[in-house]
Amino acid sequence: MKSRSAAKARHTPRGMTARPATFADRCRRQFRPLSTAAVVVAVLAGSSNAPAAEPELVALADVAPTIRQDIRYATRRNFMAQVLPGYRAGKCLLRPEVANALRRAQAWLAKSDPPRFGLKVFDCYRPMRAVRAMVRWTHSNGGSEAPFHYPAHKRSRLVALGYISDRSSHARGFAVDLTLVAIASGEDAAKSATDTDDVKPAQTCRERGGEPTDPSEVDMGTTFDCFDVASATRSGDITDLQHKNRAALVSVMSRFGFRNYAREWWHFTYIGRVADGVLDVVIE
Ligand SMILES: [Zn+2]
Repeated sequence: MKSRSAAKARHTPRGMTARPATFADRCRRQFRPLSTAAVVVAVLAGSSNAPAAEPELVALADVAPTIRQDIRYATRRNFMAQVLPGYRAGKCLLRPEVANALRRAQAWLAKSDPPRFGLKVFDCYRPMRAVRAMVRWTHSNGGSEAPFHYPAHKRSRLVALGYISDRSSHARGFAVDLTLVAIASGEDAAKSATDTDDVKPAQTCRERGGEPTDPSEVDMGTTFDCFDVASATRSGDITDLQHKNRAALVSVMSRFGFRNYAREWWHFTYIGRVADGVLDVVIE
C-alpha cells in the first residue's frame, strides 16, 4: 500500500497542470531521487515537436507483487535469441494507471472461488532502443537460424505482417504481453497445465501451448511471440480448450480496460487514457 500511495502522489493527472510542462520542469522531474516504486525517466522525443511524455513509470512488482514476471527480452529466450538493448534487468515497468489496472485484474481473479488463474507478464514497457533493434533485426540476414518463433514467414515480412512495430505501444508504457497461469487445482486449469507438460522438443511455436519450462501456464495453443496465424486470438487452428483459455484472458483484461490485439492473443493495450509519447530509458 505504501508503494501504491507513493506512486499515486507523484502522479499528476493530465489536465491539472496550469501550463504546459517546460524543459526545466522535465529536468526537475528527471533529477528527483529514484525509488523502487517509481522510475523517473528521460523523455525520448525524437524531435522537439513531440508531445510531452508522462515522465514516470512504476515497477509492477511494487504495485502488484503477486503477478508473475518472465521478461523475455531481458533473456535470450525470445525470437531474437539475444538480450535486447535497454533490458539490463527483467523488470516490468508500466505507466501508473496501467500497473494499477493490472493489480485490479489480478485481485479480481483471486476472488473467484476457488481461485484458478493468475497473471504472468512477458513484456511491459519496452525501451525505444529495443523497438528499433527489433526492426533492424527484421532487415538482417537470417543465416542458418531455425525460426521457432515464425515458422511460416520470412523475418523480413514480420513488420508488414503486423507482428513487429516501429511505433509500439510498449514504448509508451501502455501495453503488456501476458498469459494466465493456473494457481489452483480446478479441473480445467489442471488439464491446461498438463497439456503444456510435453517433454518432447517442439519444432515450432505452434507446437507448444506455453513456455515448456513453466507448466503452470495455461494452454493458449502457441507460445508467446509466436508470429503465426495460429496466434490470432480467434484462430480456427486451435482447440476448444485453447479458445476457452484465450477467451478467459481477453475477458478479464477487457473488464479492466485493456484491448486485445487480434493477431496476438498475448498483447493488450490499455485504453483508459491517450498515449503521450515514446520513452527510452534503460530498465535496470
Ligand atoms: Zn506486445
